[in-house]
Amino acid sequence: MNEDRSVPRAAVCIIGAGPRGTSVLERIAANAPEILGDREFAIHLVDPFPPGSGRTWRTTQSELLWMNSAAEQVTMFPGTSVRCAGPARPGPTTGRWLRESGRGPLHDDRYASRPAQGRYLQEFFHLVRARLPPNLRLHVHRATAVDVRHPGAAHQCVVLDGGLAVPAPQLVLAQGHTDVETDRPHGLVRIGPARADEAELGRIPDGAPVVVRGLGLVFVDCLLLLTEGRGGRFARSRHDGRLHYRPSGREPLLYAGSRRGVPPYPKPAHDLTAPAPPPRHLTAAACRALLRRPGFDFDRDVWPLALQELCRAYYHELFTAHPERTRMDRAAFAAQYEHFAWHDDRAAKLVRAAVPDPDDHFDPDHLTDPLAGLRRVGPLALQQRVRAHLRDSVRRRRDPRHSAHVAVVRALGTVGGVLGELYNGGELPPAAAAAALRRFSVGAFLSSGPPPLRMEQLIALSEAGVVTFTGPGTTVTAEAGHAGVAHDVDDHTEVAHDVDARAGEARTAAAHAAAARAVFRASSPRVRASYTARILLDARLPDPDLARTADPLLRRLLTAGHISEETAPDASGRPRATGAVRVRDGHPVDAAGRAQGTWYLAGPEQFPHADTDAGFFRRNDEIARAVLRHAAGGGPRRVSRGS
Ligand SMILES: Cc1cc2nc3c(=O)[nH]c(=O)nc-3n(C[C@H](O)[C@H](O)[C@H](O)COP(=O)(O)OP(=O)(O)OC[C@H]3O[C@@H](n4cnc5c(N)ncnc54)[C@H](O)[C@@H]3O)c2cc1C
Repeated sequence: MNEDRSVPRAAVCIIGAGPRGTSVLERIAANAPEILGDREFAIHLVDPFPPGSGRTWRTTQSELLWMNSAAEQVTMFPGTSVRCAGPARPGPTTGRWLRESGRGPLHDDRYASRPAQGRYLQEFFHLVRARLPPNLRLHVHRATAVDVRHPGAAHQCVVLDGGLAVPAPQLVLAQGHTDVETDRPHGLVRIGPARADEAELGRIPDGAPVVVRGLGLVFVDCLLLLTEGRGGRFARSRHDGRLHYRPSGREPLLYAGSRRGVPPYPKPAHDLTAPAPPPRHLTAAACRALLRRPGFDFDRDVWPLALQELCRAYYHELFTAHPERTRMDRAAFAAQYEHFAWHDDRAAKLVRAAVPDPDDHFDPDHLTDPLAGLRRVGPLALQQRVRAHLRDSVRRRRDPRHSAHVAVVRALGTVGGVLGELYNGGELPPAAAAAALRRFSVGAFLSSGPPPLRMEQLIALSEAGVVTFTGPGTTVTAEAGHAGVAHDVDDHTEVAHDVDARAGEARTAAAHAAAARAVFRASSPRVRASYTARILLDARLPDPDLARTADPLLRRLLTAGHISEETAPDASGRPRATGAVRVRDGHPVDAAGRAQGTWYLAGPEQFPHADTDAGFFRRNDEIARAVLRHAAGGGPRRVSRGS
């Protein structure tokens, strides 16, 4: 191991040069003059991928992969709207930068491709580097960090895969969503759970049947790579304006399902017409009062208030922006509606009287589980039902007449913000925090879907027979060549061990024959059909699983006890490992329960929106200032829990 002695000891090593690590770098540069004056300070930025874009936004990936955030909304430049101690450094959004530089078109009117976003991020990095104060030295290492020597000591070093040991008494861990090792059942092909990977998808032969688990954003990425990416083309009919798919003949047959059986709702193509009302029922003060009550239960006490806020926001927008579709004065409606719980019969009666068209009524149950009423349908009826739902959701998300649905998405964000504030302040007990996370998975379903054009493409692929929906509550089993014997396939699949062990014990002809007959089977209890294939595509990001992380540094730090795994109570109240790194005041906690005071965990987050007080920037600013103050001689610093 050769130690790099060319840099001063006052140093920080940022591991991961994606959006998070690059933004922390920007905040260090912005805050350094105030905190360090002209003292020398070294910043090591470590990533095998180019700085700025990192791995997720690398510019060499397919242009078929798009961002799921509107380009005009997101920015890497913290403007004056961010309430942080460091200075504002305003700059363009992705959308403005692409327009002015001509470095990439917007798709579906609003969305940049992922490589185009990567070009913006790399430009951001170059700008930050060009503006570094002269006493700051930046060292970019295109390498993977694999170990930390002398953790916590002044002579702490980060070891890179090439053998270089980088001296840095402080560390920022900004590694993003890391991959997780999964079992590979013998005789079958399993791809994922992981982000869409062109090389991995290349293992799927043309025309092969594939069972797909997951209908979210990773599914959409895979879908495009396996269809347009294999030469198929989408074309809009001049006759009816609908999108059609012309197959190339190389696409596989995808049997796709998920818990709800439908993909998340597409992103709205329009905005609110009227300003949203501030929350009234689910405020931080109301939650604190509930939390003090004996026997507090999140699902019973808080979640109904969240639904109440969604209903209020919906009708507020409907009455304000589309009064011609209502029969009552907005204030009169609101005054009565506030008195009823959202599921109260009197609320339903009031809505029927005030809003004549049932299509305009808001039904949270239907919205969050659109196929709830489905009972043992045939496969063709299911395809029609799902396509009808997709068409309806595209219509509502594209047509400004349905801006009330955008109000629901915004209200979810507001309600999530209230609960996030309590969580970050440590005010939610663990069971309530776990329940809140579970409930708010519905938030992703309602608000974090793909651009609407992606849903139109999915409808076209379904009509062309490339995609077959398998239904709500789809489970996938691996059948190891024994008729009638099926096991659940989970991330830690038992059948995989079983099959591996058997094949390892005796490589008999029978075992080979069993493996040759093995299949994955997708079925839904509410559909009269099941589908088999020898390939399973787990189309989702893996859940965090520190014990199985593929990241060599995290694996090493965990084994050595320098970091540990977080626990949270399960439904029965028993502590369970969550798979995430345990953190206290923004610092990883070691196996003995001590916070690593000079290490900062900066996990992945959505891109910050311009002109908002984005937590992303505030936390990066806090980390940067803590790093600089420590370097200036102030000792380790706390940063907020949300980092
Ligand atoms: C496929 C995908 C699409 C997404 N789309 C959107 C979107 O449209 N809009 C949105 O708001 N959010 C999106 N997100 C959320 C995403 O988390 C953020 O956009 C963002 O990329 C997170 O930034 P990050 O820097 O934390 O992580 P990353 O961008 O993942 O960067 C982490 C970096 O750390 C490096 N690294 C990891 N381990 C090591 C190591 N041991 N040594 C050295 N380097 C290491 C990696 O190579 C990587 O470059 C998406 C996420 C994914 C995975």
